[in-house]
Amino acid sequence: MTTNIITILGATGSIGSSTLDIIRHQSRLGHQWQIHALSGFSQLDKLFELCAEFHPNRVCVPSDKVDKFAHHLSSSGLDIDVVGGQAGLMDLASDEKSGKIIAGIVGSAGLRSTLTAVKAGKTVLLANKESLVMAGDLVMQTARTQKATILPIDSEHNAIFQCLPQAVQMDNVVIHQTDFGIKQLWLTASGGGFLYKSYVDMQNATVAQAVKHPNWNMGQKISIDSATMMNKGLELIEACHLFNLDESQIQIAIHPQSIVHSMVEYIDGSVLAQLGEPDMKTPIAHALAYPKRMSNGVKPLNLFEIGALEFICPDKDKFKALDLARAAAKAGNGACIALNASNEILVSAFLNHQIRLTDIADMVEKVLNDGELHTHFNTNFHNIDDILLFDERVRAKTHIYLKAM
Ligand code: NDP
Ligand code: MG
Repeated sequence: MTTNIITILGATGSIGSSTLDIIRHQSRLGHQWQIHALSGFSQLDKLFELCAEFHPNRVCVPSDKVDKFAHHLSSSGLDIDVVGGQAGLMDLASDEKSGKIIAGIVGSAGLRSTLTAVKAGKTVLLANKESLVMAGDLVMQTARTQKATILPIDSEHNAIFQCLPQAVQMDNVVIHQTDFGIKQLWLTASGGGFLYKSYVDMQNATVAQAVKHPNWNMGQKISIDSATMMNKGLELIEACHLFNLDESQIQIAIHPQSIVHSMVEYIDGSVLAQLGEPDMKTPIAHALAYPKRMSNGVKPLNLFEIGALEFICPDKDKFKALDLARAAAKAGNGACIALNASNEILVSAFLNHQIRLTDIADMVEKVLNDGELHTHFNTNFHNIDDILLFDERVRAKTHIYLKAM
């Protein structure tokens, strides 16, 4: 049986850790999951510990670390095949023994392996939203032709998935959502750490303040994206691709409690929501067990403790990333690549104390108004090399804007 075998790309990160916590919980209940392969990047001590605990068959590290890591494993009596770099990740993603693939690498570094898994017809539990932002049409078309299954584990998209009719869940690429009476989606957003702060507070935010999320415990990049609300912008584009909808059919509502993880509104006035504690172990367990359910150790939701749920219309002046993402979604594939690439560079620049938090959206806007790049914004790229080539051009341009500051 292959259903209980998994491979975690990005095992050392936040998504990887939540997934492994579920596996530990399941093991305590007597349900064994086999980990075929794991990958890490900079936290190789942590990856080594995971190898010692879970005994995967294969592991991927950066290319220049393969020999040292392999030696470390073998001298500790661990017989694990070590592969390296993007080629190694792609090897694991297409390995016929990999089982379900958790796409938990952060940023554009996750694109090639995600697409490889989809090409190999795998069941892909997708956290790496950037791969849909950069290559949504390509990924979804490939999933369709290769009969791969994409199960969203980004909490909002997982919530929407859960609120959709089963026929749409099974084939949301070809089915017309209107046939099922779907009017629009409501993506909820916590509003991040600056929801109740002024724009000036946001301008003066330190890295430590900006990475601290009020409700979720996540990796650095997505935490900064949440502070600027670029995360919700990326999720808007992610939702357009996953659910085959236009950006105009997706509303964004700030919901500071992060209990309603998103909603589907139907033409008869019904709005279906998925609720739960803000804990990534819920969407991950849903996707791991789909179409069944499994226990994951998540604290049960206590509605009486929560008391009230609020929904607020986002302040688009303070969080201009939202409109930038909408504009990119309207403009086309090239614009979405530009939005994502420039954002990645600028988030790193903020984390390196080079720019202010509010500069991120301001400079993404400059990139989206760049005359030279603009001509490619409505291009629909059909292969990954062209996508990555344009991505590189945008990064180079963003560095020029950064230097000119
Ligand atoms: P983390 O930064 O915590 O983890 C990222 C993982 O990717 C780590 O295993 C890291 O390895 C690896 N990695 C980083 N850079 C590279 C690279 N260049 N090549 C190969 N591997 C690399 O991120 P998160 O877990 O928070 O996020 C992962 C993805 O999931 C993102 O796309 C994010 O948007 C999405 N997501 C995350 C949520 C969350 O709660 N964390 C919620 C919803 C979506 P190492 O740590 O060893 O350097
Ligand atoms: Mg999310």
